[in-house]
Amino acid sequence: MPQFRRVERERLNTCHPSIIRVVTRALELFCPASGGRLFVVDGWRGERKQNACYADGTSGVQWPDSPHNKIASHTLPGDGAALIPYSLAVDLCESDQAGSVLVWDTEWDYLAIRMFQAARECDVELHPWPIVFVRHGRETKDLPHFQLADSNG
Ligand SMILES: [Zn+2]
Repeated sequence: MPQFRRVERERLNTCHPSIIRVVTRALELFCPASGGRLFVVDGWRGERKQNACYADGTSGVQWPDSPHNKIASHTLPGDGAALIPYSLAVDLCESDQAGSVLVWDTEWDYLAIRMFQAARECDVELHPWPIVFVRHGRETKDLPHFQLADSNG
């Protein structure tokens, strides 16, 4: 049974619980011919990371407009409130079993099929894949990116 490394688990844990369920199931379903496994690239992104992704062209939007940038206010006992960062999206790719070598020519269609199969099994609706964004007049398919169908929350 493949397992995420701790750093990947920490990234995944910044995501909405529905994404955590789907990705955990997809890890079991994703068995590429290479012998690799599913790898969690990104969950929640702070301002610096989001704007860096925008600058290098891997995101079409700046902070705080990505579903990777959500912040919820959580009421605490008494009068307090805490701000809790969470992501309505996750970025995935293929890696070796150890999670130390990322495969950037991942078989994206195969990965997406497994993600949508996992989503069906978990009764979670994902946004149609892939999202396409336009930067400087050039269209980019955001292949590693999966987000919930209702990503306005
Ligand atoms: Zn993304």
